[in-house]
Amino acid sequence: MLSPELVKPHSNTALGCILVVEDETIIRNTIALALRDEGYEVITAEDGYSALGALENGDRVDLVVLDIMLPYINGLDFCRTIRHAGNSVPILMLSAKGSESDRIVGLEVGADDYLTKPFGMRELIARCRALMRRRIGYNQQTASSPVLKFGDLTMHLQECRVTVGDKEVSLSPKEFRLLELFMSHPRRVWSREQLLEKIWGTDFVGDSKTVDVHMRWLREKLETDPSDPKYLVTVRGFGYRLG
Ligand code: CA
Repeated sequence: MLSPELVKPHSNTALGCILVVEDETIIRNTIALALRDEGYEVITAEDGYSALGALENGDRVDLVVLDIMLPYINGLDFCRTIRHAGNSVPILMLSAKGSESDRIVGLEVGADDYLTKPFGMRELIARCRALMRRRIGYNQQTASSPVLKFGDLTMHLQECRVTVGDKEVSLSPKEFRLLELFMSHPRRVWSREQLLEKIWGTDFVGDSKTVDVHMRWLREKLETDPSDPKYLVTVRGFGYRLG
């Protein structure tokens, strides 16, 4: 089993570090080179086991590009494992499978976005950029950092931090954007279709179950009793609202 290989960026002005996990050498190297050319620092791993090692070694990883079919630990199990451990690093999942159920499973185990092979490098880079922009914990200290408050919930937008009372909670980028939308429009009812369009974009080919899955995760993180939510409320026949 090989340990992760560090591909040095061209300069020390890397935009962030991306872990590329793919067992097919040509695809792995092509992705690594394309991302490095964009200015990212790239670490590669050829199986799920060494990918976990890379994260546990404390390497600063801002995004994981993750193939599903991998030796030892597959992409879905890798996702489950790190999410269970509380790691909210954004994950772009790659798969040769394009079916709806695979996409849903990918999102259910904690991926933030999903790309079906074969894909173009420009599309991969665009998706990576979008996920990096939303990176949780991407600290930008400013004196006038905007803050949204509702009850005990507080969102520090520029610091990408969320607290419930004085307890800090860790949200994935999608969860963060969903909550930001609700917190920006308290008591407004959003349909699942509106949430899909706002958060996942009009080109997302998923169904409204994706929204329900993310709402369930948000409730588990924010609510005292997720089965009787006081913040993220279901409006039967319409959708969801805050408060
Ligand atoms: Ca593979």
